[in-house]
Amino acid sequence: MANRNLTRLTLDKTELLGYSVGGEETVVAIPTLNVCFDIGKAPEELLTVDNVLLTHGHMDHAAGIAYYFSQRNFREMAPGRLLLPARLAPAIEQLLECWGHLDGTTPPARIIPMEHGQEYEVRRNLFVFAFATNHCDDSLGYTVIERRQKLKDEYYELPGAQIAKLRKEGVQVTYTLNLPLVTYLGDTMSGDFENLACVRQSRILIAECTFFEQDHHGRAQAGRHYHFDQLAELLPKLDNEYIVLTHLSRRTDIRSAIKMVQERLPEDISRRVKFLMERPRRFRQPNKEEAAQNSTQ
Ligand SMILES: [Zn+2]
Repeated sequence: MANRNLTRLTLDKTELLGYSVGGEETVVAIPTLNVCFDIGKAPEELLTVDNVLLTHGHMDHAAGIAYYFSQRNFREMAPGRLLLPARLAPAIEQLLECWGHLDGTTPPARIIPMEHGQEYEVRRNLFVFAFATNHCDDSLGYTVIERRQKLKDEYYELPGAQIAKLRKEGVQVTYTLNLPLVTYLGDTMSGDFENLACVRQSRILIAECTFFEQDHHGRAQAGRHYHFDQLAELLPKLDNEYIVLTHLSRRTDIRSAIKMVQERLPEDISRRVKFLMERPRRFRQPNKEEAAQNSTQ
């Protein structure tokens, strides 16, 4: 059965598909890049995404990982690939083994431990760069970078045969172009990662903003989460085309959060800020048809 709780956000040609409510569940996929940031409870539609980039081990971000691998195995798909903070790798392997005892099958999994500053090629020309965030021990954020070799300007007009000849002679005719497409911070409060060029220049920045209310600064600090006041200072310094806010607490009224973004940020920044979830939909009321069906059962 299709999962009807996921939300879809389209930014030009890039579609984000996910669900994110602080403490409850967070999973954000970009199917065209074949990556899923965190896995939440492993929603049905996202089982086909081949690369899961896990930021930390908290249950609301990681609960579905064994189910993700097991369902892919059950459906005879290739094992998924999990990039995660290196420290968590042994625990995840144990978790899969434990499920193997209960379930009878330990699903195959490709587990890639990552450290701050490491990079991993998920497909040709597409790399994932990991960086330390400031949430819990070894929590990581990720930037997905497209990397291409481009012909240097001075050779642009030359015919192909001549370029090939130069190449043969060992002339470096190309340069490397790095395009940071999307950065996902996971759970975090302010930290050194805010100064990384790939974070600042990423086309899309997906940032958590768990707290908005003025009396929630203490909670934000204790849980090491962003409060909107911190983001309001940070965002004007960044060059992102889109900023997507996730992980709002269920206590936050989305309308007042939107209003706060509009009032507190300059217009050229506030219009770039989107909320992944305009309203949490997990606890939706049954529609009339379902209600009628239920009442007859
Ligand atoms: Zn967390």
